[in-house]
Parts: sequence; C-alpha cells; structure tokens
Amino acid sequence: MAEQNKDADRQDKIMDFSSLKVRQHAAALLIAFILGAFSLGLYRFATYGVESVHYHANFGVYVNGEQDIFEDYSFYQELESCSLDIEPTAKERTHIHQPDNDVVHVHSEAVTWGHFFETLGYSIGDNHFATRADVHVQNTDTIIFYILNGELVGSPEQQHIVSEDKFAVVVGGSEQQAMELYRSASTNASEFNASSDPGACTSNEGHSVTSRLKAIFQ
Ligand SMILES: [Zn+2]
Ligand SMILES: [Zn+2]
Repeated sequence: MAEQNKDADRQDKIMDFSSLKVRQHAAALLIAFILGAFSLGLYRFATYGVESVHYHANFGVYVNGEQDIFEDYSFYQELESCSLDIEPTAKERTHIHQPDNDVVHVHSEAVTWGHFFETLGYSIGDNHFATRADVHVQNTDTIIFYILNGELVGSPEQQHIVSEDKFAVVVGGSEQQAMELYRSASTNASEFNASSDPGACTSNEGHSVTSRLKAIFQ
C-alpha cells in the first residue's frame, strides 16, 4: 500500500514537472512573441516617415495680368484625408496649404514642377499652359512666359523643384510685364522652411504619435 502510494506520488510529480515544463515553454514562447512584436513595432515606429522630405518654393500664375489665387478649397491639401499608406499620393508629395496660395510644399524626393501643377489639375508645357478652366496655347498673340529664379526658361515640367525656388507662369503681355509680375510674387519659402506645417497630413510633423501607432499596429 505504502509502495503504491509512493508510486502514485512519483507519477504525480512527473506529471507536475512535465506540465510545468510545458507551461514554462508556452510562457517563454509568449514572451518571445510579445518582445518580437514590440520591437518590430518600435522599429517601425522609429523609422516611420523618417526619410521624409519637406521643403518649400514660391510660385505665381498670372493670366492676362491677373493673378490666379486658387480660390477653390479643392486646390488645397486640407481637403485630403490623412492617408498613412507607405506610398504617398501625388497630392501628398506636393501641394499647397491654406491660406498660402503662393507656397509650394514638397514632401517627397524628385518632385517636378510638372508634378506640382498636375496636383492642381493644371498642366504646363512648352506650347501650352492649362488651368482647370482654360487651355492657353502659345501663338503670335499670346506668349507663355516661364520665369524661374529670375530667368526666362522653357517649360520646367521635368525639372525638380528646388528648395526656395521662385517660379512664375505668365500668360499674355510683354516680357517686361512678365518680369514685373515675377518680381511681385512672394519670396517667403525660406520662412516656411524654418517652420512646420500647421495640421499637415504628410511628413512627420503631421503624424501624431497615436496616428503613427494606429498605422503600425492595425
Ligand atoms: Zn510645408
Ligand atoms: Zn504639406
């Protein structure tokens, strides 16, 4: 009887021991999993949008002596909902922010003037300049002037926007008038370079800690 009890006791101990081992294994696995998920999350949190580019340039559009003020709200980035996709949309890469209708915001590498005007629904080319409403074609009556950093240039649609560039599109009038309009355009890009955008979606400053966490762990 005593012998039998001892046996049962030993059996219990073995059972206890092995189930303890299983539990220890499970716990170790769980901890490893949590640590793994946490460090992956931490890594993604730390690197999220770190490569973000953000700089500014000035621009102005003048058609027959009148400045295009981009009145409609749909011209502005504010209309876009904040997307946290890894691949930014065209309008996230470059846009204007209310109320500054003369400041180009660039949030990505290799953004050209062509890209920028495209996001406004405009198109620039050597022989045409199209707004949402009109297509202006270069002819003997109407000249399209592109003035970049004080120089008359061909259409810069393939040209990368450089920080603190100043660019004017002038449709109609004389070269002298075009230059005057260019000079009247804003030159405050450097001020924007020195501050962060208010309530911007793209780039780091617009992504709050919680929205970044949500984007990473969802
Ligand atoms: Zn900006
Ligand atoms: Zn922006």
